[in-house]
Amino acid sequence: MDEIKASATAVSNRIIQASAQAKRDVNDITLVAVSKTWPVEILINAYQAGLRHFGENRTDELETKRQALESEFGVDNGITWHFIGTLQSRKAKTVADFADVFHAVDRLKIVDRLQNRLSENGRILNVFIEVNVSGEMSKSGINCTDLLNSATQQEELRKVVQMIQQSPNLTLQGLMTMAPWGAPEEEIRNVFSKTKQCAKWVADEMSLKRPLQLSMGMTDDFELAILEGATHIRVGRAIFGERNKT
Ligand SMILES: *Cc1c(COP(=O)(O)O)cnc(C)c1O
Repeated sequence: MDEIKASATAVSNRIIQASAQAKRDVNDITLVAVSKTWPVEILINAYQAGLRHFGENRTDELETKRQALESEFGVDNGITWHFIGTLQSRKAKTVADFADVFHAVDRLKIVDRLQNRLSENGRILNVFIEVNVSGEMSKSGINCTDLLNSATQQEELRKVVQMIQQSPNLTLQGLMTMAPWGAPEEEIRNVFSKTKQCAKWVADEMSLKRPLQLSMGMTDDFELAILEGATHIRVGRAIFGERNKT
């Protein structure tokens, strides 16, 4: 408990510093505590330490942990559950049933599966579209490596945005990205700033009233992400420690 509280406080202080450096309001940044792989007891400690946003990347863990924390702290426990991983379409139902925010919309089929289930359960799901701006082949996400110049890429992204907008139970929050693993700082910053440009393109193109939010930055790079405009940072190891490799 004390350990998680101490590391969560350390992360919060780093967020405060980075926001000050970026001349941004710290309240515009949501810390998603990435609790994937950690057991329920650890999440209970994290909750008691004050954390209210949890990020999971496996549907079975999302379901069990949400239910466990609801039985521990009640249904009005104030927790927002984020599903941050790539989603197989046959598992979309669980995300529609148990997540509040989904960060990785990467194709039309997922939008369709989510909306179908949400129209049955009557829930609303906030979503981010995952974009790949680095061109790294291992990365999922809509190809936005050259969005501003490529009509093909614009068309693909536009289709996903429009389908979300036409889905009554889905709310478009913004774009999500992952920086290349272990890349130099400049390259990482470039990925974040390119993602911000893509978000601006979507907002202009769709005449959105509000700017899109940006889910970017993890343990190793969240300060850079904040400098480049992140509104949601997804932090695991800096809060919970190293995960067991399974
Ligand atoms: C695991 C994971 C994170 C958190 O990574 P850390 O390095 O532990 O902070 C963030 N985003 C996604 C999509 C992840 O899968």
